[in-house]
Amino acid sequence: MTETPEIYMNAIQIKNSEVHGRGVFASKIIKKDDLIEVAPLIRLEWKLRYQYDRAIRDYCWMNTKCECQDCKMHGPALYLAMGYGSMYNHHDEPNTNIKLDYDNLKLMVTAKKDIQKDEEIFVSYGERYFKSSRRIATQQEETKKETNETESEHT
Ligand SMILES: [Zn+2]
Repeated sequence: MTETPEIYMNAIQIKNSEVHGRGVFASKIIKKDDLIEVAPLIRLEWKLRYQYDRAIRDYCWMNTKCECQDCKMHGPALYLAMGYGSMYNHHDEPNTNIKLDYDNLKLMVTAKKDIQKDEEIFVSYGERYFKSSRRIATQQEETKKETNETESEHT
């Protein structure tokens, strides 16, 4: 990290992505190690896990490390990120590092390398995310036979 990381909220924008749906793009050069965004997280109540809404399946982050009673009974707690925190597309080799701070309800996105103007900003959803979202999709299949959407998608 630089000593005084600059927040680039005015340097990112939502545009159509060539990878998938919409994504977050740099509207000016962002330097390596600079803080791109601190996105507030909103914890959703466990009941929402059972709605199988695509917005929940595709946009939420989940805290697989929480060991509270609700998580044990209903699965990892889901969090919706405000700002652009739920809009980043996944990349196996993202140009950012992210830190999910569930205790303080924030997602921090930091540039892993220099990001050029108009370049898409990617984060890694992590292996656990895909495992968990696939599990949600499987539950959805069992509950709603009419759906044939088994793959997790991030719009
Ligand atoms: Zn919990």
